[in-house]
Amino acid sequence: MKIAKYTIGMGDRFGQQATAQLRAVIEAEGRGIAIAPTWNKSHREHTLIGSAPDDVRIAANSAVAALGWKGPFYLDADHVNEKSVDGFVDSCNFFTLDVAEFIGTPAPEPEIDAFVEWAQGIAMPELPFLDYGVASLRGAARKFLLAAQEAGKIYRRIAFKKGSSAFVTEVSMDETTHPQTPSELVLILAMLRRESVPVQTIAPKFCGEFHKGVDYIGDVAAFETEFDQHVSVVEHAKRMLGLPLTLKLSVHSGSDKFSIYPAINRVIRKHGAGLHVKTAGTTWLEELLGLAESGGEALDLAKDIYEQAYNRREELSAPYATVIGINPEALPDPATVHGWDADAFSRALRHDPRCAEFRGDFRQLLHIAFRIAAEMKPRFSAAVSRNESRIAKNVTSNLLDRHIVPIFS
Ligand SMILES: [Zn+2]
Repeated sequence: MKIAKYTIGMGDRFGQQATAQLRAVIEAEGRGIAIAPTWNKSHREHTLIGSAPDDVRIAANSAVAALGWKGPFYLDADHVNEKSVDGFVDSCNFFTLDVAEFIGTPAPEPEIDAFVEWAQGIAMPELPFLDYGVASLRGAARKFLLAAQEAGKIYRRIAFKKGSSAFVTEVSMDETTHPQTPSELVLILAMLRRESVPVQTIAPKFCGEFHKGVDYIGDVAAFETEFDQHVSVVEHAKRMLGLPLTLKLSVHSGSDKFSIYPAINRVIRKHGAGLHVKTAGTTWLEELLGLAESGGEALDLAKDIYEQAYNRREELSAPYATVIGINPEALPDPATVHGWDADAFSRALRHDPRCAEFRGDFRQLLHIAFRIAAEMKPRFSAAVSRNESRIAKNVTSNLLDRHIVPIFS
C-alpha cells in the first residue's frame, strides 16, 4: 500500500468529530490542496480513554460514507510496539512503529561490525553536511541498530498477520531525549533497509520542543536548516538505498506549531517532497472550547474538568513526560477558574498567541485532561452532542485554517 504524497494525521479522542475533521480535508481539496486524511490513536490513548482500535475504524468509515469521500484514507496505529501492536492489526492500515525505547542500547557487537563495514559503501557527495567517518558510523550503529532491528521485528509481525501490501509503515523515534542529526537519519534509513522494513514515513526527533497543544519552543531558523537537511537526506537516501519512493518525513507536531509551519511549507515546496504531519488530539480541546463558549451547564462542565485535572496534575502528566512542559506555578487555581465567564475561559484556552489572556500551561493541562472527561463520559458526550454544531465548526476551521493551509498550500 502506497501512501499519498501529503497526509494529515488527526486525533479524535472521543470519536465524535471524524466528520468535522474530514470536512476540513474536503474543503482543502476545494482550495487545490490534495491531502489524505489519517486518523491516529495510540495504545496509550486507547488505554487511558477506554476505547479500542475498532472504534476509530467505525468512526472513520462512517465519516467517509457520510461525506462521500472517494480518496485514500488511513487508520494509524500510533506509537505501537511489539507488545501493543496485535490489537491494531485488523482495523489499521498504517502502523507507527515506536522504537525510541531501544535507542542507546547497543546491538550485539558482530552485528554492529557488519553494519559498519556495509555502510562504508554509502556516499552522498551532493550532501556535504553529512559525516560518514568510521567513528560516526560506529557511533550511530551503537545507538540505533537495535532500534532498527526492533522495527524489523514489529514490521514482520504485522506483515505475517496482515500481508505486506496491506499497510503503510512508519518508524518513529521522536519520543526520546535527544534529536537525531541528518547524518544519523541517513544511517537509520540504511539500517531499516538492511532490516527490509519498507518504511514510507519516518519521524525523527527534531531540535527544539514539540509540547502538546502549544507552539514550538526553540530556534526557528535552526529548525528550518535542520528540516531542510532532513528532507534532502530522505529524498537522496530513498533512491540510493532502494527504499520506497513514497518515503517522506513525518512531523509529530503535537499540534499548533504555528511558528514553524511557514518553514515546513517552504522546505517541502523547495524539494517537491511529500510530508506527513501528525496533529495530536487537540480536537478534544476544540470540544472543550465549544462547551466553554456555550456557557451555562456546558461551561460548568469545562470548569469541573479543569478542577479535577488541577488536583490530579501529576498523575495526568506522567504518561506524557517527554511531550509536555507544564509549569505548575503558572496554573490558575480552580477557585479562580470557577469565577470566569465563558469569554474568560475561552480566551485562556484558545491558542491565539496574540491574545494576552491566552495561558499555555492551562491549555496543556487541559490537553492531557481528556482522561477526566473519559471518566465522566456520559455527561461529557451528551454535552458535546448538545453543542455539536458549534463544536464541529471549531474542529473543521481549526484543522483547515490553522494547520492544513499554512503547511500544505
Ligand atoms: Zn510521536
